[in-house]
Amino acid sequence: MTRIYDAAVLGAGLAGSSLAKSLADKGWDTLLVDRQLFPRHKVCGEFLSPESQSTLQSFGLHEAIASLEPRRISLARLIFENGSEVELPLPGEAMGLSRYSLDAALHRTAQQAGASLQTGTTVKDVRRAGYGFSVMTKQGGQRCSVGARIVIAAWGSNGHAGLPGYRREDPAKPSFMGVKTHFSGIVMEPVIELYFFRGGYMGLCPVEGGLVNASALLRRDAFVNAGQTVLSIIQAAARRNPMLNRKLAQAAMVKGTQAAVAPVQLNRKLLAWDGLPLLGDSATMIPPLCGDGMSMALRSSAICAPLADRCLRGELSHAEWEQTYTQAVRKEFKGPLQWGRLLQGLLSLSNTESWLPHAARLAPGLAQQLVQATRLKPYSC
Ligand SMILES: Cc1cc2nc3c(=O)[nH]c(=O)nc-3n(C[C@H](O)[C@H](O)[C@H](O)COP(=O)(O)OP(=O)(O)OC[C@H]3O[C@@H](n4cnc5c(N)ncnc54)[C@H](O)[C@@H]3O)c2cc1C
Repeated sequence: MTRIYDAAVLGAGLAGSSLAKSLADKGWDTLLVDRQLFPRHKVCGEFLSPESQSTLQSFGLHEAIASLEPRRISLARLIFENGSEVELPLPGEAMGLSRYSLDAALHRTAQQAGASLQTGTTVKDVRRAGYGFSVMTKQGGQRCSVGARIVIAAWGSNGHAGLPGYRREDPAKPSFMGVKTHFSGIVMEPVIELYFFRGGYMGLCPVEGGLVNASALLRRDAFVNAGQTVLSIIQAAARRNPMLNRKLAQAAMVKGTQAAVAPVQLNRKLLAWDGLPLLGDSATMIPPLCGDGMSMALRSSAICAPLADRCLRGELSHAEWEQTYTQAVRKEFKGPLQWGRLLQGLLSLSNTESWLPHAARLAPGLAQQLVQATRLKPYSC
């Protein structure tokens, strides 16, 4: 007989694990499923923005994260091909922490709260059933199904045709890829550095253990001849910005920390519900250079958790949940998404380096305001 959970959370990134923890904390029998095995390295800048701190606190995750000894970051530095720089003090303290450690820590907290974690398990289909939903999975070549009264999709941005939230890549828009690796041998201040060049940018973020995470978002058409490995792509990108090339000259890649992802869709429309609630990147994606994707993933989960709880208690119908969640997500994310896309567009212009550093010097308040407009408001429940 199929086991029936109270809640099945599909995808165990930040959005999914924080939601699973929250539901398990409230006593619900919760299943958290992910197709990958953990810990694993993931393409991400590994910059946890100041705005994410209040949401982490609301989930009771702050201590678990502090114990991982993240690096503290207080400044963002933008560095252009011609060597000009813009410095932007952050509105609070940010953290540099690898997804390898962070995601595994969130799994532990969800399990300690009582959630069941199933990794190496790919969700293939979700169907309505009398008691709620039936979730079809594949694990090690074996097909299984589990039941759940409610199901929440938190499976990130690269969904699958036929599953809720899937949006096909728009062939009229530029296609991007992401790559990442850790480096040793780079000394960094408590600063996140973003190096811009033709066809993309690379972020260097200090993380735990004295390492530096390098992650790049690149136009695929600008890097067709860069080779097939993360190393060759990172080297090709570094050659386009002399300051970056110099910074990485003495650095050594840490074996086994490389990862790549494509396509990265920067312009997917916000979709908070598609038969199921969609969390984090499966709902929308703020341009990665804003460094707020993880914060938005956590925030969508914080918005969803009390509604899911009320639905399980029978105090809220699915239709009411859909309406309230969709409205709340739109209200919180619309502004940051619009401004984030504008910022991404500005920084992708070929002549940005010739005017932006001057403009930022002449009107530092304006540059700060533009960045501020891309941020989420502090979380209050
Ligand atoms: C180049 C780049 C740099 C970035 N830098 C930053 C940064 O510095 N700071 C920041 O805040 N954000 C950054 N982001 C964005 C950030 O990584 C995401 O916003 C964040 O990971 C979203 O979390 P999530 O939980 O929604 O999705 P994810 O973390 O992607 O988790 C989704 C999970 O679902 C699983 N999954 C998918 N499909 C299935 C399936 N069918 N069955 C079972 N499991 C499934 C996946 O394996 C995955 O573990 C960056 C993104 C990119 C591409």
